Amino acid sequence: MTTTARDEPGGCWSVPWIHQPDWHEMLQCTGKNCARLGGSRAEVMGHIDAIIMLYEEVEAPLSRLCEVTCPTCNDVCCLKATVWYDQRDIIIYHLVTGLFPEHQITRSAKGICCNLGENGCRLPRLQRPFICTWYICPEQTTMLKREAGNPEVNILEKIHQIKELRKRIGTLYLQV
Ligand code: SF4
Ligand code: SF4
Repeated sequence: MTTTARDEPGGCWSVPWIHQPDWHEMLQCTGKNCARLGGSRAEVMGHIDAIIMLYEEVEAPLSRLCEVTCPTCNDVCCLKATVWYDQRDIIIYHLVTGLFPEHQITRSAKGICCNLGENGCRLPRLQRPFICTWYICPEQTTMLKREAGNPEVNILEKIHQIKELRKRIGTLYLQV
């Protein structure tokens, strides 16, 4: 993956909270703000429910794309991707589970994402940074274009909807 989290509109240019003290400070602040959502909470949770539903809808088509393209890929995105949790990832994950990810996404000395296992990403989709769902690699994009008439692969629109819902959640959170 040549993309980085900064490619998502609204993303930033350097990995935030990479050091544990910063990470813990951010989690504390996020927990407090989530607890203070008050009247906005129902709206935020409604958006999150919609995101979860959209994730469920894209799961099978995305897995199918990966089954076709990833086994023969010679430029594996997760081996070189620079991705990280942004504030919206953390808020959504926390409001759904009551938990926080243990640490920011890191890369090994070889540059490999810390969540990459032998069978792909070890994280459930909701626990991954959104950019890992947002990014459709060129080979998969080509495949989607070939199948443009197939309703099962209408995933770009759904991913766009998730992005918009995340923006709304971010706006409501900032109003706390
Ligand atoms: S998503 Fe695309 S770039 Fe990433 S491993 Fe699969 S085929 Fe390769
Ligand atoms: S979190 Fe998962 S999907 Fe995202 S780069 Fe790491 S291994 Fe790949």
